[in-house]
Amino acid sequence: MTTELSSKPMEQDLFINGEYVKSASGKSFDVINPATGEVLSKVQEADKEDIDRAVKSAKAAFDTWSETPASTRSAILNKVADLLESRKEEFAKLETQNTGKPIVESMFLDLGLAIDCFRFYSAAARMIRGETIPVASGQLVYTLKDPVGVVGQIIPWNFPILMSAWKLGPALAAGNTVVLKPAEQTPVTALKLGELFNEAGLPPGVLNIVPGFGETAGAALVNHPDVDKIAFTGETKTGRLIMETASKTLKRVSLELGGKAPNIVFEDADLDNAVHGSLFAVYLNQGQACVSGSRLYVQESIYDKFMEKLLVAAQKIKVGNPLDMTTKVGALASKEQFDKVYSYVAIGKAEGAKLLLGGDKAGGDLSNGFFLNPTIFEAEHTMRITQEEVFGPFLSVIKFKDVNDAILKANDSQYGLAAALWTKNVNTAHTVARKIKAGTIWVNTYNFLFNEVPFGGFKNSGFGRELGLQALDMYTESKSICIDLGQHPNWFGL
Ligand code: ADP
Repeated sequence: MTTELSSKPMEQDLFINGEYVKSASGKSFDVINPATGEVLSKVQEADKEDIDRAVKSAKAAFDTWSETPASTRSAILNKVADLLESRKEEFAKLETQNTGKPIVESMFLDLGLAIDCFRFYSAAARMIRGETIPVASGQLVYTLKDPVGVVGQIIPWNFPILMSAWKLGPALAAGNTVVLKPAEQTPVTALKLGELFNEAGLPPGVLNIVPGFGETAGAALVNHPDVDKIAFTGETKTGRLIMETASKTLKRVSLELGGKAPNIVFEDADLDNAVHGSLFAVYLNQGQACVSGSRLYVQESIYDKFMEKLLVAAQKIKVGNPLDMTTKVGALASKEQFDKVYSYVAIGKAEGAKLLLGGDKAGGDLSNGFFLNPTIFEAEHTMRITQEEVFGPFLSVIKFKDVNDAILKANDSQYGLAAALWTKNVNTAHTVARKIKAGTIWVNTYNFLFNEVPFGGFKNSGFGRELGLQALDMYTESKSICIDLGQHPNWFGL
């Protein structure tokens, strides 16, 4: 694979009713490669009229798709996984060019997990079932799991292909039809998925992919009376707005929102392991992950020793050309995101936090892109840089005294998506894991997500569980069928 950063701009159309089409307005927008600041793709811009077209085709396709045998739905999802695997390098390269993330992550994490996600939901399509409930003799009661209908899915810019897979897999497996709105910054790989679904034999209209801006295309989807459910991943403030808007049409809503995950290192931890895990926790995807371990709590008794090791290791992390296989930290996904993260360097300094590493833009060959060197602050628990979601390669380190202090500080946050702890003591591990209010708790590891395992938030990190068989609950309605096998009682004595 060439590591040449510049590329000729592509042109991409909307995917509606099984075809690539121009937007009704004819307008397009530029998608930028954040490692160079150059245009990567000129993408047709979906607006209300295009959303209407997409919803109409999803609605028309619903009866057929929801009645399609589970084995056929399964086979199509499996074929998509195979096709994505056969084009893994191409998709990984585009993902890196669009997001700025290191190619090693795109290849082995984003694409690897996305392919496996389609495979998992290919299998899960055949596992959807209701139950029989033996309420009384003479009564046959059972439940059916009906698909919800037309589902609007709105995804963020940090993991475009992976979030597409997390959303499409369970929704299509359960027999729903979908209008997917990728983030305006990163629609490139999501749009290309349409080609794979067509080749896999998905009937037209079952999947529509309509990139556009949040306030126009996104809002039109959330407002649309023929959309039955919105599944959203993004910022907490956008999630609030979406929930409010969706309440007007009583759409089902599931929200996967922000985070500020605590990562706790106890004095009995394997320190080298904890150092590597803590760096992986915060610098994976340049820290642009809602599970990012951006609050690092280190027990007082080992603080100095641990920090010495952490800083030595952090300095060795290679920031570079995202297409180079040896690069570990690439560019932030947009100029806007770079500016936001960079502003927190000034905020941290102003509130008296001590800058231990980084805090500066990478120079040389990288100076046209949005690269921030890995940044570490020694901070206090109450500071803004410890409480607010920075969403960048930006770590706040805080001391704690004992187990109770660690639990208190970990839970003192508006968010509750993920947390981690490092200890060799099994009692500490289980006690702390039970007490922390978050949807995923890692012990002696970080960032490992499995397609079989439910994922989602407590508190302001949202609600609903993606992944695993649980995700199917978000895309099905339970229907109870009650049959009297004898005679209905003559209640009115007629
Ligand atoms: P960020 O600010 O980090 O881009 P957002 O939560 O704004 O995060 O974006 C996540 C997704 O939500 C994107 O696809 C974006 O276009 C979409 N979005 C933003 N605002 C709205 C809105 N008002 N209604 C629907 N979707 C929106």
